[in-house]
Amino acid sequence: MSIRHLSSHTINKIAAGEVIERPASVVKELTENAIDSGATEIIITTHQGGRNYISIQDNGCGISKEELPICIERHTTSKLKDDNLFDIKSLGFRGEALASIGAVSRLTVTSRNKNNDAWAIDVNGGEVSEIRPARLEKGTHMEVRDLFFSTPARLKFLKTERSENQYITDIVKRLAITNPEISFILKNENKTLLDVKASSAEDAVAERLQQCLYPDFIENAAPVNHQLDGVSIKGYVGLPTYNKGNSQAQFLFVNNRPVKDKLLIGAVRGAYQDYLARNRYPVVVLSINIEAAEVDVNVHPTKAEVRFRDEQSIRRLVFHAIQGALNNASQSASTTVAEEAISRMQINTIPTQNNTHQPLIAEAAQALREANAGEYRSANIPSANTTYGRKSFYQQNQSSFSRNIIPSSVSSPERPQDNGRSENQEPTANDDFALGHARCQLHENYIIAQTNHSIVIVDQHAAHERIVYERMKQAYRKQQYIPTQQLLIPEIIALEPSQVDILLAKSDSLKELGLVVERFGETEVAIRETPAIAGELDIAGLIKDIANDLEESGDALSLQELLENVCGTIACHGSVRSGRRLNIQEMDALLRDMESTPYSGQCNHGRPTYVELSLDAIEKLFGRK
Ligand code: ADP
Ligand code: MG
Repeated sequence: MSIRHLSSHTINKIAAGEVIERPASVVKELTENAIDSGATEIIITTHQGGRNYISIQDNGCGISKEELPICIERHTTSKLKDDNLFDIKSLGFRGEALASIGAVSRLTVTSRNKNNDAWAIDVNGGEVSEIRPARLEKGTHMEVRDLFFSTPARLKFLKTERSENQYITDIVKRLAITNPEISFILKNENKTLLDVKASSAEDAVAERLQQCLYPDFIENAAPVNHQLDGVSIKGYVGLPTYNKGNSQAQFLFVNNRPVKDKLLIGAVRGAYQDYLARNRYPVVVLSINIEAAEVDVNVHPTKAEVRFRDEQSIRRLVFHAIQGALNNASQSASTTVAEEAISRMQINTIPTQNNTHQPLIAEAAQALREANAGEYRSANIPSANTTYGRKSFYQQNQSSFSRNIIPSSVSSPERPQDNGRSENQEPTANDDFALGHARCQLHENYIIAQTNHSIVIVDQHAAHERIVYERMKQAYRKQQYIPTQQLLIPEIIALEPSQVDILLAKSDSLKELGLVVERFGETEVAIRETPAIAGELDIAGLIKDIANDLEESGDALSLQELLENVCGTIACHGSVRSGRRLNIQEMDALLRDMESTPYSGQCNHGRPTYVELSLDAIEKLFGRK
């Protein structure tokens, strides 16, 4: 076998395999080129999910007659000045896309540069034509026909027209979200899939996200505006209760380039890990701006990953920016929670009648939406650093509520019902607590409370879980250990032998976190002490969960992560489970605890801990307004 050079034809086809996977990749490359050209309007049209025809028109700088035959060659770009890979500001720079697309389709480039005439060139499965005069008013028109006609194997991997259209729409939406200063129109045949106008507003990216994907995003998000050491982080981060089933809703930009960077995604995950279950994901728009020399964007072929010179400090910055923003919004549950609650209410009508009350529900939901737009946030508990009168609300509560429901309620779970305050007693004017006064408990888990202007429904289990969790973390931060209580009889728990080893390897850390674990033969451990704050615990469930978690994450877990993980698991296994009766004082104490606990608007899994229904919405519901 003799060694020989590959033909440029073959090289282009191979390269196309990497860059051009499906019609959406073509749309991505060509739209990015249009964006780089300085266009203010981009019109994208596809036929049959892009398989037959893709057209991208822009009003950008265009390509000159001389450059037309060059741009479709491999490794030709106008975007890399002096071959400096550390100073890249455009989306493209590898000079690969047009050559690759031309190798696997019939590509026509028509372009008009400045005041010159328009010219066109064709590339047919890698065969380049002569240039010819053409007609075009401005910018560039790229047309791709019969994608993959020269590489039929690729065609087999394409999905249905609908799926391919979906991929294309996703890509264009993502690019539209990142480039709000450009108008985008996307059509498949004659159907308009996206039509967004250019905007230069400050929050343009978040606005685009609303227009393209989540109409209720901004009202359910906390603004981020963080600057440190020449790095700026701006955007919006969704409230934990506004979560999604996958990570598609995370829009991260580095120097205006959308990235899917592991480090950044990890930082976002870390910042939310306290408030979201593993399989739930936040909605995030974050734009990181950093000196070009501090970041290398030439790491990944499709350029979704970047490499920061100082990874740790970027990770920390993102983490703190998000935590800070969530902190400021810490006690609000997302507005959609109350809205959803109202819209799920069913009005009792006699079965034979038509339900004529449905419009009332819609109206009530509307009232809530309006209230949410303005007053909802302020009706909510102010966050720890919001000033409320003279003192911070948080401090005020910290001092006046020394009574502490968690230990007392746990230590005397069977305390008889004694309703200290009559249930009908009106709250007095001077104690208008944000979560109001408890009135009763329903279904042994839901506390109904009354404020001056609303009804609050609290999920006591979720609320208690959050409070125990925050208390444990606080105790640990203050004293570097969590006080324990000794068990009268140690609990013996059977585990896999490997899990016994893993657990014992961490026994020192676990001890600091309030769990005293000892070996008890090959396949069992003995638990002797548990965190006092947590009260009664389902110890076996807890230890199994922790062992599973440790097994999954191995040594990768930092102490901080272990702390959050273990505290979260303990809180979850030790909370006032639904089913425990509380008397009015215990309920009120729980409400006051919630008010003084950071992040009490959601439990550790991102579910809301309470819903507030404004009187206004309720009155609308009953047709009173
Ligand atoms: P890259 O984008 O990495 O530079 P491409 O193969 O995508 O490589 O494009 C090659 C060159 O063609 C670009 O550098 C640019 O000069 C020119 N070009 C491509 N598309 C356009 C466009 N829509 N408007 C103006 N110039 C373009
Ligand atoms: Mg390009």
